[in-house]
Amino acid sequence: MTGKTKKGEVWVFAEEENGRLADVALELLGKGRELAGRLGVPLGAVLLGGRGTDELVNRLSPYGADKVYLVEHFKLRHYQTATYGKVMCDLCEVHKPQIFLFGATPMGCDLAPSVASALGCGLTANCTDLLIGDHEKRKNILFQVHPAFAGSMIATVVSNGPHPQIATVREGAFVMPASNAHHRAELILSHADLDEFVPPVRIVESHREEKTAELGGARIVVAGGAGVGTKENFKLLWDLANCLGGVVGGSRAAVDLGFVDERYQIGQTGSTIRPWLYIACGISGAAQHRAGMDYAARIVAINTDPNAPIFSFADYGIVGDLTKVIPRMITAVRSGVSGKTGG
Ligand code: FAD
Repeated sequence: MTGKTKKGEVWVFAEEENGRLADVALELLGKGRELAGRLGVPLGAVLLGGRGTDELVNRLSPYGADKVYLVEHFKLRHYQTATYGKVMCDLCEVHKPQIFLFGATPMGCDLAPSVASALGCGLTANCTDLLIGDHEKRKNILFQVHPAFAGSMIATVVSNGPHPQIATVREGAFVMPASNAHHRAELILSHADLDEFVPPVRIVESHREEKTAELGGARIVVAGGAGVGTKENFKLLWDLANCLGGVVGGSRAAVDLGFVDERYQIGQTGSTIRPWLYIACGISGAAQHRAGMDYAARIVAINTDPNAPIFSFADYGIVGDLTKVIPRMITAVRSGVSGKTGG
């Protein structure tokens, strides 16, 4: 066990499932490093699992945590709210972190509120930024920035409750930090008081569904909206994505219309992405959609309406019918032509 830091550390939940660390956990370590630096406290990563997590500790280390709190127990082999929640609360009671960040993944969205509620502290979900600032008489507290009222306002939330200040953040909201192979985190093995603990739920069987939509780390995304018109037309987007080596995404309207599965939805209630190139086809550019793709390095928009809002923030705009423009783009890419493909 290590000594507690008087001022309270910044912690990140190093979410792991089936032997793989969630990308959002590594992204949060980058932001956590920045916050810990501002506060002058160590950055800790908290890793829970069954036996044999050494490899994950090695993977975590280069991403900048000063300490990795590792808790291993056979009852932590599979995620369960009650067991994970109990271990997290016990850790917080002992080490008293001042900030605890979770990915807004299905696991994080389940675990973070359970920890916050058990500890009686505040939580802000789906933050898009995190800063340190002063509010009234309170110095150096966590400013938790998140879209409110369907994205029409950006709210900055501070927690009045006891520590830790807890926030969840969606994948892609922060840039993944560069890894440093020479950086070594101090490993702190913590005990899980679970031998006598009987969780209220028993796992009878677990079934793993492979993720098919790899939107999170994609460099090129071709996204379609209601303007695509039909599911048949949407195949054009798959063709363009395939020949560019990218993946397909959709607006909520495209999902609601059944053009594409909801796993591909981009926006406030879908994925947040940071591709190198984003091609928006038949998407108007509503604030809730923009919330998920605004970090794209380059945005190309194809829309029949020259006044569509998306043209106000796209880098390149093509006013035209996507059923005519996309086939021309595909032909151009396949024939190796670079430069203008516009309609
Ligand atoms: P539309 O707004 O209907 O735009 C279609 C566009 O296609 C138009 O600009 C039109 O000019 C163009 N078009 C038509 N025909 C063609 C053609 N042949 N060629 C080229 N262009 C053409 N939306 C999301 O996307 N993601 C979210 O996560 C999300 N979350 C939401 C959360 C809340 C709480 C709320 C209230 C809304 C949310 N929305 C979300 C919905 C959002 O407000 C918009 O309704 C939605 O993004 C619109 O999708 P769209 O641009 O595909 O459709």
